[in-house]
Amino acid sequence: MPRILLLLPTTTYRTEAFLASAGQLDVEVTVGSEHPNALARLNPTALLTLNFSDPEQAARQVVEFAAEHPIDAVVAVDDQVTLAAAAICQALSLRQNSVESVLAAGNKHRMRQLFERAGVPSPRFKLYRLDSDMEVLAGQMHYPSVVKPLGLSGSQGVIRVDDEPQFVRAVDRLTKILQAESEKLKGDQAEKEPSLTSHFLVEDFISGPEVALEGILSRGQLHVLALLDKPDPLDGPFFEETIYVTPSRLPTDVQEQITRSTGEAARALGLSEGPIHAELRLGTDGPSVIEVNARSIGGQCSHVLKFGTGISLEELIIQHALDDDFELPNRESQPAGVMMIPIPRAGKLKQVHGLRDAEAVTGIERVTISAHLGQKLVPLPEGSVYLGFLFARASSVDAVETALREAHARLQFEIEPFNSDAESTKKPLEPINTDVAFRN
Ligand code: ADP
Repeated sequence: MPRILLLLPTTTYRTEAFLASAGQLDVEVTVGSEHPNALARLNPTALLTLNFSDPEQAARQVVEFAAEHPIDAVVAVDDQVTLAAAAICQALSLRQNSVESVLAAGNKHRMRQLFERAGVPSPRFKLYRLDSDMEVLAGQMHYPSVVKPLGLSGSQGVIRVDDEPQFVRAVDRLTKILQAESEKLKGDQAEKEPSLTSHFLVEDFISGPEVALEGILSRGQLHVLALLDKPDPLDGPFFEETIYVTPSRLPTDVQEQITRSTGEAARALGLSEGPIHAELRLGTDGPSVIEVNARSIGGQCSHVLKFGTGISLEELIIQHALDDDFELPNRESQPAGVMMIPIPRAGKLKQVHGLRDAEAVTGIERVTISAHLGQKLVPLPEGSVYLGFLFARASSVDAVETALREAHARLQFEIEPFNSDAESTKKPLEPINTDVAFRN
C-alpha cells in the first residue's frame, strides 16, 4: 500500500477533511505535525514530529524515516507547510514544486517581480522600507492604492488608502500588525528573506469584481477544478472574504482569459505540481492576477467543492500527489457556495443565536461556527480568523447566493466589548481546528 506524508500544521482548519479523505483511499498515512502526540508512541509510523519552520531539518528527519517506511507522496495542507513539503520532496526525489517557486509564492514582492518579468497582468507595485519617512512617501503615492505586508495571508494587514493621511495611518497600523505577528513570520522563509518584516508593498488599487480559481498543476499544466465568483464588492479599506459561488456567472471568454492568466502566473512563479488557489480582479483592462498560492482553498471552504460522484477536493489532491496521470474528474454540475462569516466587531464571543433558523433556510447544507464561546475576536486588518462557514447547494447560482445571505441574516452574534484597550490590542488567537461550539 502506498504511504503518504500529510503535513498538518496545528493551526489548520483542514485536519478532519484531509484525514477523512485519506481514510477513503487505500493508503497508509503518516501525519507530520509540530507537536509530539501520544499517538506517536502507540503507532510510531503514524506520526512524525517535524519543525516546519526549519524545512531542511524536517527533510533530513523524513529521509531517515523513509529509509524504513518508504513515502510515495507528500501533501501540504496549508500555506505554513508548503516550504517544508518542497524541501522534503526534493530530499526524497519526489515530484513537487521547487523550493524557489514556493518561496516566490510566499513573498508578495517576489511574486509581483516575477509576474512583471513574465508579462502577467497584475497591479503596478513598489517596495518600501517600513522605517521610511512616511509623510514624505505619502506625497509620492498615486491614490487609491493598497498597502500590504509581504508575507502574511488571509488579507491580514492589507489596507486600501485613498489619500495621504490614510496612507500614513495604514503603514502605522501595518507596522503594529507585523510586530504582533512576528511569530508567524519567523522561520526559514523569513531568515532567507528578511524583507518580509522590514518592508511593505504599495500597489495600484484595481477596482472591479474578484474571482478565485481553484486548480491543480500537473507537470506545469493547469487543470481548472473550479472558478468561483465573489459577489460582495471588495472595495476596502479592508478585504474581508465573504461569499464564494460556483460555477462562475462570467461570460465564457472572460473565464478563458482568467484561466490563461492564472496558468501564466503559475508558470512565472515556477510552480509545476499540486493544488493552486488564485485570486484575480477583473479590471478595465481584463483580469489582473492578485496572487497565486501553492495550496488549495483555505478554511473549511473546500467542503463546497465535490467532484465526479462526490469525491472531495482533498481526495483529488492526495490521488494526484500519488499519481500525476490520475484523471481529474469535473466538478459536480450543481451550483454551490460558501460564506466565510466575518467578524462584525472586536470583542469576546458570548453567544450565537439563530443557528437552527439559519440551517432551516432552503439550500443551506451546513452551518459551522468555528470560533468558540469566549474566544477573542479581532476583525481585519489585524485579525486572521472567521466566525465560521455557511454552505449551500441549490438549482441556480443566484439561489445559492440568496440562501447564504438569508442564513447569514438569521444569525446573531453576541460579542462583549473588550474590557480595556490593552485587551483589544492583544494578539488574536490562532485559528482553531475543530468546530468546538456548534456543528450540525
Ligand atoms: P493575502 O495573501 O493576505 O490574501 P492579497 O494580496 O491576496 O493578500 O490581498 C487580499 C485581498 O485584498 C485580495 O483578495 C483583494 O480583494 C484585495 N487586494 C489586494 N491587492 C489589491 C489590489 N492591488 N487591488 C485591488 N484589490 C486588492
